[in-house]
Amino acid sequence: MSGEAAVEDEGTVQLTVKWSGQELDVRLLATDTVADLRDALCLRTRVLPARQKLLNLKLGGRPAPDSAELGALGLRPGARIMMMGSPEEAIAAANEVPEEAAGVLDDFFEEEGGEVPIHLRPEYVAKVERRVRDYKVEVKNPLREGKRLLVLDIDYTLFDHRSVADSGSQLMRPYLHEFLTSAYRDYDIVIWSATSMRWIDEKMRLLGVSAHPDYKIAFHLDNLAMITVHSEHYGVTECKPLAVIWGKFPDTSAANTIMFDDVRHNFLMNRQSGLRIRPFRQAHQNRDKDVELLLLARYLRSIARLEDFGALRHRDWERYLERHPPPED
Ligand code: MG
Repeated sequence: MSGEAAVEDEGTVQLTVKWSGQELDVRLLATDTVADLRDALCLRTRVLPARQKLLNLKLGGRPAPDSAELGALGLRPGARIMMMGSPEEAIAAANEVPEEAAGVLDDFFEEEGGEVPIHLRPEYVAKVERRVRDYKVEVKNPLREGKRLLVLDIDYTLFDHRSVADSGSQLMRPYLHEFLTSAYRDYDIVIWSATSMRWIDEKMRLLGVSAHPDYKIAFHLDNLAMITVHSEHYGVTECKPLAVIWGKFPDTSAANTIMFDDVRHNFLMNRQSGLRIRPFRQAHQNRDKDVELLLLARYLRSIARLEDFGALRHRDWERYLERHPPPED
């Protein structure tokens, strides 16, 4: 039975979904449900979950219900599924809100979730609990007692992944190693990127982060640790719920964690802990100008003195830094 299933060693399921002349490869946790698969397909195709007709996805001879776990469907390795359904234009529009419109978005962000805020909605809290239970973290360097936690995105945060160059170092954000070295004094460092672990490992190796003598990375998290949420403002979107880390590592919490990302909706489950970093793009033109990481290293040193990060508004980090320069400055 288990040899026949499309469940890999790490408890993941790999599927190919045929839709509208395309073949989409989808990888999810074996304990993710058909509803999670629908969310993942919505992200890729913009076909709303309720409008998706999934053929040959059966449980006990009947169409599998949304609550069914993918690992329980007896899917063969490389299983193929057919999906029918048309994209929703409204979702397309919601997902293409320019991140640059910061002021406008902040207003929307404040109003997100007229009824129950997204991070408190039971269905998302339950998803996070499943990630805490089922997502396997490979700890490279154990968390150190008394340190804070810094969670970092990769693309456009540490690295310009779209420009072309001969080597990773040409696309690396300036002062990356200085930044990580400085942060490591007060923070354990986690890398979280919305791609596969293989890609993350490779990228960190190419950037010289994995084996740097002056700092250590605690662990990497990939897209399987993320969850999909339905947000009024962003439509169906993925985000990086820090509670996955907080649930797995009891010494970590909103009180001692800060997360950098250039994509605001990644913070949807933990808005207060997120600092939206200016994206590092067009590396060739900006390599000599971008000092964001130098300044943010100072911000991290400054707030590291605080007992609790809960009162900080990271959006105002530059103003905070002016008023509270780090002690060794
Ligand atoms: Mg990014």
